[in-house]
Amino acid sequence: MKIEININNLVRENVKGLSPYSSARDEYVSDGSQMVFLDANENPFENGVNRYPDPQQRSLKAVLASQKGVDVSQILLGNGSDEVLDLLFRAFCEPREDNIISLPPTYGMYKVLSNINNIENREVLLTEDFQPNVAEILKAMDQRSKLLFVCSPNNPTGNGISSAYIHELLTKFNGLVVIDEAYIDFSKDASWIGELSQYPNLVVTQTLSKAYGLAGIRLGICYASSEIIAVLNKIKPPYNVNELTQQRALERLQNTEKVQEEVTNILKERSVLEAVLADMNFVDRIYPTDANFILAKVDDATKRYNQLLEAGIVIRNRTTQPLCSNTLRFTVGTAAENKKLIEKLKELDNQ
Ligand SMILES: *Cc1c(COP(=O)(O)O)cnc(C)c1O
Repeated sequence: MKIEININNLVRENVKGLSPYSSARDEYVSDGSQMVFLDANENPFENGVNRYPDPQQRSLKAVLASQKGVDVSQILLGNGSDEVLDLLFRAFCEPREDNIISLPPTYGMYKVLSNINNIENREVLLTEDFQPNVAEILKAMDQRSKLLFVCSPNNPTGNGISSAYIHELLTKFNGLVVIDEAYIDFSKDASWIGELSQYPNLVVTQTLSKAYGLAGIRLGICYASSEIIAVLNKIKPPYNVNELTQQRALERLQNTEKVQEEVTNILKERSVLEAVLADMNFVDRIYPTDANFILAKVDDATKRYNQLLEAGIVIRNRTTQPLCSNTLRFTVGTAAENKKLIEKLKELDNQ
């Protein structure tokens, strides 16, 4: 049974009536010649950033569209993917009435954003092997379920979510299925962007914060049908992606060889670290990972976390997360950083 999705029926009532904010820079049509800009009350003396940024980020979207094989109208950019996720809540979820479904253990922002937006967060635990429990998700779903968050590869567990489950969810979930692909560039799995034409309720989010090495500039990306993107454009702040971010992102996207080189290096270091961790007496198991981090189950996570911290090495203690008792999450660093970590781990192993 395939659910018929009418995107307009999912949109919040007040958002249906909105039209996008039209900023000064949206209201003229450039004829390509030198123009005199006296429309936005800017300081006219050039310093590189005295003008407002392009509210539609045209150059950036053009590059992304050609690299990902989608239309420019299928892309929305935000101040990190955290802003993109927040826009999804604000466009589709009516406070106190609608609900979302998230699948812990997973990325913490889905819960934070549901609390901020006053939306019920229905949590359906992943199975023991960190895959979605489809039957339970469908039981938790009702007519007011607007968003389902599937993080793949998942944070903090590191594994990819099996595509058969995602296909099933896309066919049976009666709201939008948001696939958070923050770590997709480290994964052997293909992005779900390629499936956008098959599923009207599919939304894919990516970010330049992880593999692209640009966490500091805050650039998140949403890929979906042009119908969904048009809804998000109605509520996005006009200048949400600043000029410096647009410039730095463009430079990096035009140098994907460098990005690929770094990803390859990180993956190599990841296997080194995996091998060392697997050998430690205090490590019970390491979980399969498709991301730039490793989740490991240890004898006493809080004790080991504190020992590493004392040595000046900061990792993430995930012991309070469901299904993650006594786990630690290690981000893969440079070879030099990993060497320091490995030396300390070996020292601890004898204590
Ligand atoms: C790190 C992370 C993000 C963060 O994205 P920003 O673009 O930096 O806001 C999003 N989703 C997941 C699962 C992450 O781990």
